[in-house]
Amino acid sequence: MMQTFFHSLCVAKPEISRLVALTFDNRFVRELPADPETANHRRHVIGACYSRVLPTKVARPQMVAYSREVARQLDLTPEVCESDYFVQVFAGNRLSAGMDSYATCYGGHQFGHWAGQLGDGRAINLGEVINRQGERLTLQLKGAGRTPYSRTADGLAVLRSSVREFLCSDAMHHLGVPTTRALSLILSGEQVIRDMFYDGHPKGEPGAVVCRVAPSFTRFGSFELFATRGDIELLRKLVDYTIRTDFPHLGEPSPEVYLTWFTEVCRRTAEMIVHWQRVGFVHGVMNTDNMSILGLTIDYGPYGWLENYDPHWTPNTTDATHHRYCFGHQPEIAFWNLEQLANAICPLIERVELLQQALNVYEENFIRSWQTMMAGKLGLHTFDPATDDELTTELLAVLQLVETDMTIFYRQLALIDTGRESLHASDETLMRPLREAYYVPEQLTGEHAARIGNWLRSYIKRTQNDGTPDDLRRKRMNAINPKYVLRNYLAQLAIDEAELGDFSMINELLELLRHPYDEQPDKEELAAKRPDWARQRAGCSMLSCSS
Ligand code: AMP
Ligand code: MG
Repeated sequence: MMQTFFHSLCVAKPEISRLVALTFDNRFVRELPADPETANHRRHVIGACYSRVLPTKVARPQMVAYSREVARQLDLTPEVCESDYFVQVFAGNRLSAGMDSYATCYGGHQFGHWAGQLGDGRAINLGEVINRQGERLTLQLKGAGRTPYSRTADGLAVLRSSVREFLCSDAMHHLGVPTTRALSLILSGEQVIRDMFYDGHPKGEPGAVVCRVAPSFTRFGSFELFATRGDIELLRKLVDYTIRTDFPHLGEPSPEVYLTWFTEVCRRTAEMIVHWQRVGFVHGVMNTDNMSILGLTIDYGPYGWLENYDPHWTPNTTDATHHRYCFGHQPEIAFWNLEQLANAICPLIERVELLQQALNVYEENFIRSWQTMMAGKLGLHTFDPATDDELTTELLAVLQLVETDMTIFYRQLALIDTGRESLHASDETLMRPLREAYYVPEQLTGEHAARIGNWLRSYIKRTQNDGTPDDLRRKRMNAINPKYVLRNYLAQLAIDEAELGDFSMINELLELLRHPYDEQPDKEELAAKRPDWARQRAGCSMLSCSS
């Protein structure tokens, strides 16, 4: 049953009540089993997909920023978003008509080990909106207080991590990377205690609440938990629900459809990871509870952007020893995570060997998409394995010879002149457009320069065979190689200012990153490589899970 409600509580600004017309259709809570217990205390929740829970009220909520586009997608006007009513609702102080708040139950493999029940420990879903286009969008507050899944933690989030999630999910969307989105970022007006580096130095930080938006927040770990508990009936319910709600094009659930569904999850996951590798995004915590069933980037925690191209790099200090989730491991970790999902749904599949075939789809799709993506990054018409396997292998080696900024490198590579005469130019001349990408130019010894020069010559020959003229090649490259990404130090500068009460940089970055592929001449400084001060600064090169 679908219900439309007009909010009616804005006495001071009656026009708001006319403008806020969110249509809720809370299918998740309606169709899946609820935890019968409604008191908010931590517990193991058996036989249910979620627990009803209310957000915790906060003292003095204050709007930091909201995304006009996400608001538009929800059919919310700027007047509504700038109203006090909006701030109260999206800080968790009141539920709007039609909302039915709950936290979901899931488990997960964390750093390769089964962790048991986790669940929405600091996420509270408000309900599912159906917008005017008929899209289903779940609204979820992150940092709105304890839930039955909070374990020993406080259910809260601090401003720094909330700014990072808010900005990055928007930036990723505009880069063309599948992602959850964020509607709003609101200060709670309360202090949250965090020991940022778990080294015995806790301090108070401003608390914040982000409203995230996605068709669904279901994770691989949601299925794993029920399978691990042997609750096959509940597992089947959740799978059937997910197929009917989020994959309706696959048809009515059946053992056959379970396989096509899993195959599609493999394909979507491969696409997402190829995008991460394309733009230099490192998620940082690819636990199975952080893998979206829709193939969306989810749970922005200690993520980071590659500055100098280093496949071994991870921003997450918790992972500093093993580098399990470093940039270069992301493709194989996604596969490992899919294997865990395959194990979970195994009891529903009659012919298990077909699950293995479905898993192979991940690898095939990943390789094919990665090749197409690399060809695109180089401005080539197609990826020709005869030449391009070697060309890309050597490129990735050359990028690691000396500290090379990945984003700037590809952008500048577009400027290389690939005319016939260029093959006779010296290493020095050939490399000139790339100079800007190097962090420590003195590292470029003659030997390194010769190797880079040789790679450039192979590249030039390859582009000549490809037959793409330079202007078209540049256009192609600049549409796939971003000029602007949310560099770690930029997010940190915005956080530093926000902590002092100035939100202008957050809004500036939000605007800038809506057009990451465009040249924005008056914003050139925001494309600059990491400054030296940011090399070792917490929040820039190192992040902990404390958030
Ligand atoms: P993460 O590594 O951030 O994806 O979180 C792993 C699990 O810990 C999830 O179940 C989260 O809901 C939970 N969690 C993380 N931070 C908090 C917090 N401050 N309060 C309650 N639960 C949390
Ligand atoms: Mg998580």
